[in-house]
Amino acid sequence: MSEIDRPDAPHRARKRFGQNFLVDRHYIERIVESIDPRPEQRIVEIGPGQAALTRELLTAMDAHAAKGRAASLDVIEIDRDLVARLRAEFPPERLRVHEADALSFDFAPLAASAKLRVVGNLPYNISTPILFRLCEFEDRIADMTFMLQREVVDRMAAREGDAERGRLSVMLQYRYRVAKCFDVPPGAFRPIPAVDSSIVRLTPLGSERLRPMSETRFAQIVTAAFTQRRKMIRKSLAAWVDADTWATLGIEPTARAEDLSVAQWVAISDGARPRSTAHGSPKAPAA
Ligand code: SAM
Repeated sequence: MSEIDRPDAPHRARKRFGQNFLVDRHYIERIVESIDPRPEQRIVEIGPGQAALTRELLTAMDAHAAKGRAASLDVIEIDRDLVARLRAEFPPERLRVHEADALSFDFAPLAASAKLRVVGNLPYNISTPILFRLCEFEDRIADMTFMLQREVVDRMAAREGDAERGRLSVMLQYRYRVAKCFDVPPGAFRPIPAVDSSIVRLTPLGSERLRPMSETRFAQIVTAAFTQRRKMIRKSLAAWVDADTWATLGIEPTARAEDLSVAQWVAISDGARPRSTAHGSPKAPAA
């Protein structure tokens, strides 16, 4: 049977694109209320799907638009059948539909006149790579509001000392304020997913952000430590930091990766020097 939708038939959800569509009006409205979109803002939605959030976003923006003016937004959708349906439902001046993979999409041109407010019920199978991809456009982003698997949101928001704290927590929290907003149950979607979901907001820290001397080294060190998260940092970072440096930094070398704050990671990164050890050279970060 052909994989392509017949335009007059209902769309069949595609697992490979992480398609679980929001159908519960209560949550659709609550999400858009929490975004509070305005017509003068540059809103970009990743994965509009069947437009559950898109329609509500446009309605909310219209409510604040000048008389006789209709709001517009940009959406990025990979599924060409859904793209065709979106183009059939919305005129191009209302919805700029970019048929593209959000993982390789260039967000910069969209931010030419204003910083972007990025939103989306993200496909769970690629949520972490999308978050890392968007870090490349941090300076062009006003904020981001996403629906993600609850467990991923808990890792994103985990503070030092939390068991869920990991590479994702540190790499996001040194750029953004990460705030979990609320949970969304599986029954709010069709098909019903096997996992719980949550809404999370990321706001760039801007001038409050700590800047390590080398972003590359920072990423390498955080990755190296969390790859061996059960080890004390003295061991997992032996290729980077010697005993004297731990003393200078005032950081307990017996701590574990999850115990450290973003400021401590920046201090380690700035104080570290790649060393040749019995363990070999420091490893490059995983992609
Ligand atoms: N926003 C809709 C909703 O809330 O009902 C759909 C959400 S569904 C979880 C994820 C959407 O992202 C689907 O429409 C899917 O086709 C799209 N998608 C999946 N991978 C994508 C990618 N790499 N780039 C852009 N869109 C993608």
